[in-house]
Amino acid sequence: MTTTLLKLQRYLKEIEKNDLSGGSGMQINAFLQLRNEKELLEEAKAIDEKIKKGKAGKLAGKIIAIKANINVKGLNSSCASKTLENYKSPYDATVIEKIKEQDGLIIGITNMDEFACGSSGETSAFGPTKNPQALGLIPGGSSSGSAAAVSAGMCDMALGSDTGGSIRNPAGHCGVVGVKPSYGLVSRYGLIDLSMSLDQIGPITKNVYDAALLLEVIKGKDEKDSISQNSEKLNLQKIEKIPKKIKIGILDVKGLEVDKKIQELINEKINKAVKKYKWKAVNIKIPYIDLAVATYYPLVYVEFFSSTRRFDGRKYGFKIEENCGEEVLRRILGGSEISKEEHFGRYYYLALKVKKLLEKEFEKTFKKNKIDCVVSATVPRPPHKIGEKISLEKMYNYDALTIPSNLAGNCAISIPCGKINNIPVGMQVICDKFQEQKMLQIARAFENLRYNKS
Ligand code: GLN
Repeated sequence: MTTTLLKLQRYLKEIEKNDLSGGSGMQINAFLQLRNEKELLEEAKAIDEKIKKGKAGKLAGKIIAIKANINVKGLNSSCASKTLENYKSPYDATVIEKIKEQDGLIIGITNMDEFACGSSGETSAFGPTKNPQALGLIPGGSSSGSAAAVSAGMCDMALGSDTGGSIRNPAGHCGVVGVKPSYGLVSRYGLIDLSMSLDQIGPITKNVYDAALLLEVIKGKDEKDSISQNSEKLNLQKIEKIPKKIKIGILDVKGLEVDKKIQELINEKINKAVKKYKWKAVNIKIPYIDLAVATYYPLVYVEFFSSTRRFDGRKYGFKIEENCGEEVLRRILGGSEISKEEHFGRYYYLALKVKKLLEKEFEKTFKKNKIDCVVSATVPRPPHKIGEKISLEKMYNYDALTIPSNLAGNCAISIPCGKINNIPVGMQVICDKFQEQKMLQIARAFENLRYNKS
């Protein structure tokens, strides 16, 4: 059996060669910081000792990378911004405490879009991340480094955060698995927020089983996050069981500009599952889903503006307005404008109303059609070339299929569906709130189709 130590050494070599700027390989730029090597090696040995004695936690042997907006004590959770370039986290986020308690080995901090504002991994102040599966193309974002690190074989698993798609979108483009948990399933304590009414931390992994394993460890009520709540324990053995009598709702994506070939690939996968597992599939419409992007941005602008007021250069790092990139500044200025008293009730509150409406429409759709899940592509289009100029509208539209479940508070997962022109395509499975067990089982069954061609 491969020990934690051996695996760690392999990953470190891979990172040295293919990630760091001095390396001879692909220079993926997935990591912003690696932990001290000596410390890592010692910890890996200690974990192997525990495994030998049969006293190890659930994540023993797993090597985990963490997105740069999650506090890990002693590391530089910079949010990939010059603003927090020298910030050293004074404490562990709740999810990090839980990972450490279960003997997960944290290897380092990953690159991302600055303050999680982006869909492409290009807004990082420390250079874009490359897509390991398609080198000249974006890996998706904002959890770009986390998805790329898992995809490039530089760690076993990673944590990302998802406000409008930032876990699922890069997971889709990089050919890995990413979970956006139901709002409130995972504590946000220690997450440097983008939009606190939407943010969730979640796993990015090589397969659905590992996602379930990591999710089971990090989820649960936390006194330090009032919206977090307890939920049923995930049954990891049951994840392997093909669920019976599943009824899939195929999302009507009219008006959402989904690439034809991508939709065909999704439909093919659904047909395969229907045939092999004797599941059912029906076409469904979710009213107002075409308003999701327009509803999301006023919420994010205002909440982001409010949460960045603490980055005034006194307590944490430097003054954000003087040290951030274009996209972050746009949101701060936009948020400051639309939260002015004279606009009261116009943008933010209106957006909150549509958010509620969409939440209700999702609930109705699940009930009325008696469906177990809604399936669509994760991202409507293939990834663009790094550095290619695309319009803001097009950039924001990357998340047209992922934002709805953040607004509704549902759980959603992206799994690899296949490739088009050798570029990975992600498929999204959305379930009702706190239905993670069912969602993971359905996703695992889809994943199994990869191995059993029929
Ligand atoms: N791309 C979206 C945005 O820029 C989503 C970001 C996220 O989920 N963190 O806001």
